[in-house]
Amino acid sequence: MKRKLPLYGKILIGMALGMIWGLSAESMGLLEFTNNWIKPWGTIFINGLKLIAIPLIIFSLIDGISNLSDVSKLSRIGGRTIGLYLATTVIAVTIGLLLVNIIKPGKFLTEEKREELGRAYASDMDSKITSARELKDDGPLQVLVDIVPENLFGAVSNNTNMLQVIFFAMLFGIAMILAKPDKVRPVKSFFDGANEVILKIVDLIMNFAPVGVFALLASLNIDLDLMKALGVYSLSVVLGLAIMVFITYPLILKTFTKLPYLRFVKGILPAQVLAFSTSSSAATLPVTIDCAEKNLGISEEVSSFVLPLGATINMDGTSIHQGVSAVFIAQAFGLDLTLGQQLTILMTAVLSSIGAAAVPGAGIIMLIIVLEAVGLDPSGLALILAVDRPLDMLRTVVNVTGDSTVASVIAGTEGELQVPPADAETA
Ligand code: ASP
Repeated sequence: MKRKLPLYGKILIGMALGMIWGLSAESMGLLEFTNNWIKPWGTIFINGLKLIAIPLIIFSLIDGISNLSDVSKLSRIGGRTIGLYLATTVIAVTIGLLLVNIIKPGKFLTEEKREELGRAYASDMDSKITSARELKDDGPLQVLVDIVPENLFGAVSNNTNMLQVIFFAMLFGIAMILAKPDKVRPVKSFFDGANEVILKIVDLIMNFAPVGVFALLASLNIDLDLMKALGVYSLSVVLGLAIMVFITYPLILKTFTKLPYLRFVKGILPAQVLAFSTSSSAATLPVTIDCAEKNLGISEEVSSFVLPLGATINMDGTSIHQGVSAVFIAQAFGLDLTLGQQLTILMTAVLSSIGAAAVPGAGIIMLIIVLEAVGLDPSGLALILAVDRPLDMLRTVVNVTGDSTVASVIAGTEGELQVPPADAETA
């Protein structure tokens, strides 16, 4: 019997063809055609994913929490999740700092290239510095204030308010556990059913993924020459990301779960490919949740809480990038950072990766805060902007993989990880 190509196979083909198209479009004179006729399909695909992200968080989180037997389970899961997210982020920055101090990529950048990059990206950088300043002017408790929305419809009307939506959905779910069971029953079946419908919509959108991914990658404009000048720096970041994916996560999964790493990777591959093509953990979230539940067998209770939270606050890839980039910029300017300054980078990189939005290029804006914390000139950012997009694509893959690793561990420790048989993948 002929076997049908699974969806993730089609997505991988779309990705490969998109990259080939993207790299040859300019030389074949197809840039305008690509912009007019191919790029919009990528935008439509991302819009579809973004469209479903907020309803998905609301319905699956309310449904998931209201399934919990009691509120104490939620605080146990919450405490462990935040602890693990913090631990993996600290490990990530430490790996980044170790690599950049050993490899010293800043010493490989010639004076000429440094000036060329500085000139080419001066205006881009100014707008990023302004965005970072706006963020920094807030008081220390502003993070908490920002979590509590003053208006529900205001919160759900903007995809960057994900923490506010999580807050409301948790409040609603907890209240459902505490309220009189017979009164709550119809509300519960409504959320159960609505959640099923939303997950179906995710499946429908995902059928379009091979085309969407092709279009996104075909319309990326990457300057290969500038990338070469920043080769050693990019390789240091990529090495750090690879250590996370090939050593740290497998070790964590092996220690805390019975999930074989290859099964894990095969299960979340569609989410990884999407993270790579969209550079956004938030846009990828619906698919991450879908893969976690269907392919890894993580319970809805765990995935609906741990994954949206992770997409917002856990960014291991971003934090590796921040550690390497901050020290690289110092090295390129010929400055030697003290141990104290490197520790400051560690702390601020952890905090700024938590604060970074799950959208393309968010990490680089937060990097300005890290640079300023150790007294480095934020204009150094111009040195690395040329390669930010490809590195963003890769770090987003790590961000999503990190969230899925923690979700698997939490589900494993709660006895809620039921890995389906190997040939049962659906997403
Ligand atoms: N693009 C990343 C994400 O969505 C954030 C970043 O810029 O590092 O996870």
